Amino acid sequence: MSKLLIVGSIAFDAIETPFGKTNKIVGGAAPYIGLSASNFNIPSAIVSVVGEDFPLEYLNKLEEKNIDTSGIEIVKGGKTFFWSGKYHNDLNSRDTLETQLNVLADFNPIVPNDYKDAEIVMLGNLHPIVQLGVLEQLTKKPKLVVLDTMNFWMDSALEDLLKVIAKVDVITINDEEARQLSGEYSLVKAARAIEKMGPKYVVIKKGEHGALLFHNEQIFFAPALPLEEVFDPTGAGDTFAGGFTGFLTKTDDITFENMKKAIVHASNLASFCVEKFGTERMENLKREEVQKRLQQFKELTQFEIELS
Ligand code: AMP
Repeated sequence: MSKLLIVGSIAFDAIETPFGKTNKIVGGAAPYIGLSASNFNIPSAIVSVVGEDFPLEYLNKLEEKNIDTSGIEIVKGGKTFFWSGKYHNDLNSRDTLETQLNVLADFNPIVPNDYKDAEIVMLGNLHPIVQLGVLEQLTKKPKLVVLDTMNFWMDSALEDLLKVIAKVDVITINDEEARQLSGEYSLVKAARAIEKMGPKYVVIKKGEHGALLFHNEQIFFAPALPLEEVFDPTGAGDTFAGGFTGFLTKTDDITFENMKKAIVHASNLASFCVEKFGTERMENLKREEVQKRLQQFKELTQFEIELS
């Protein structure tokens, strides 16, 4: 079976939404990606770093989901990456209040030997130099490399980020960031401009308005499931990325047609993430819930129309 290698931040997050506030809770790109991908029962491993202040029980929880955590370095005396953010009333946009890189600042990733030949590689959000460092350790060219990033790295490490972007097959990015990276307001033009930077596939996430997949002249759109209650959108993008790469790893098929299905699975999984603060909802997600919502997704989007 194919394997999924994940790199990304592991964090303490302090989040404020119109519905409440949390003190430091576990977050970061990698846990959301890993938990989401674990729904496909595939072999996966996380490469990341935490400080000595990080709860080891959380790593055990990831292991229980069959996620290999041997590539997560624990820095003695170090402090875990910290991020705090505040969502606006519409929950589609947020302000970063604070980013403390801490142990992420000088992290040298080490890919576990078993994953140096992973077929699918998910470069989750963290410093582009670390993302590049992971690619350099691979002993076999992966079938697909997917990159997720955010405005923080566009602002602070654009040159390095462009180097990674040039090396990946797929980029997943939100609408505002796509506009920032490309300098284009139209998302169609933005995707075209980003394709020229390297990735053959561009996925633009639009929060509650769904996601778009671009490849050459082809465009596919999947809505987000309209939910009665959205509590905390943090991690939805990473959960989406985990669902996307998890499904592609499971099916071992990276055609555009299969990527469309991957986008639907990704949107489906992301719809759960936002229902609770932090990773809680993803930690306890049941197969039946996922299947039921997938059916709702189908009903929401399928229609017959006669073309004359
Ligand atoms: P998302 O809502 O999918 O964009 O991801 C939110 C997660 O990204 C949070 O759990 C944060 O800890 C993490 N995060 C925020 N800023 C950064 C950053 N500069 N680098 C890596 N991860 C970050």
